[in-house]
Amino acid sequence: MSEIKVVKAASLKEKPDVSKIGFGTHFTDHMFVMDYEEGKGWFDPRIVPYEDIKVSPANTTLHYGQAIFEGCKAYRYKGGKAVVFRAKDHIARLNKSAKILDIPEVDEKLVYDGLMQLIDIEKDWIPDGAGQSLYIRPFIFANDPFLGVSVSKCYKLMIILSPVAAYYAHGFAPVKIMVEDTYVRAVRGGLGAAKTPANYAASLHAGLVAHQKGYDQTLWLDGVERKYIGEVGSMNILFKIGGKIVTPNLDGTILDGITRRTVLQIAKSWGVEVEERPISVDELVGAYKDGSLEEIFGSGTAAVISPVGVLGVAGQDMVIGGGKIGPFAQKMYDFIDGLHTGEVEDTYGFIDVAGEY
Ligand SMILES: *Cc1c(COP(=O)(O)O)cnc(C)c1O
Repeated sequence: MSEIKVVKAASLKEKPDVSKIGFGTHFTDHMFVMDYEEGKGWFDPRIVPYEDIKVSPANTTLHYGQAIFEGCKAYRYKGGKAVVFRAKDHIARLNKSAKILDIPEVDEKLVYDGLMQLIDIEKDWIPDGAGQSLYIRPFIFANDPFLGVSVSKCYKLMIILSPVAAYYAHGFAPVKIMVEDTYVRAVRGGLGAAKTPANYAASLHAGLVAHQKGYDQTLWLDGVERKYIGEVGSMNILFKIGGKIVTPNLDGTILDGITRRTVLQIAKSWGVEVEERPISVDELVGAYKDGSLEEIFGSGTAAVISPVGVLGVAGQDMVIGGGKIGPFAQKMYDFIDGLHTGEVEDTYGFIDVAGEY
């Protein structure tokens, strides 16, 4: 696409040892940027050297949080290709979040082209160790220098890239999560269906308290009855109950996770029965007691699949599947990991090639 201007960095950074850097600490040489002004629309799409940006101290996002983001990943693929997993779906969801926050929608084709061009330029940054990837963070934030509370007139879209280590540094391991019965994060009619910083701001304190109690993350309940399961901080949650995969339905309080969609689609293609419906804590406790609660796992771009070994409910720990990785979660992880690298053939149309080595 010729309308995307490219300014190359004068010198390139030294690439880090990805196995030692964890998540989101290092950034590549270039980024994609585009601006918006009321009356003018989105303009000046460009790939430029990665650098700090200047914002007004009165920047509306800093004060009122009108912002959205995405998270997806690029992988080194069989046959010497640089690929992105479900790029179009992530960009489409960016526009869904944009609608919820009254942010002007983007031209999905243009952002897709910008992303693919950026990945091609930065493909040497895609690490090739097991479970490693190049994390892609597109985001849009309100950019008015104005302290009044209103929908902004100026925005900036940026895409930055960060090489990331395997999520499980010590191998694929189950986590401990607790059902959160004190704090709530999103309610129906709120921002739960948008990928927006506010959902994270609302979760930080509860996360800290959960950590102090010895859990890795919180499992949110619905904010009204505090009875139905929602999602984990940055993951959707799925249960294997009596042979079926059961997950909360999309009721506006949880994110329509793309890994969730991937898992449900693959499970169906394997002939596994899938249910999207409200799930109460009582149902889970009952299924645990009668032995039909076989597995619990989270799904999200960062970890892909995160098996849950312990679920804490009102101070009582339920040990799931002996605290070990469930066979379904393991099989699903291996399959999706294979799709990322080309070890498993992509018959789903999830993979887009950005460049070749
Ligand atoms: C990003 C995110 C997820 C996971 O979504 P994926 O598309 O699978 O990465 C789940 N819940 C929340 C709140 C999120 O922000």
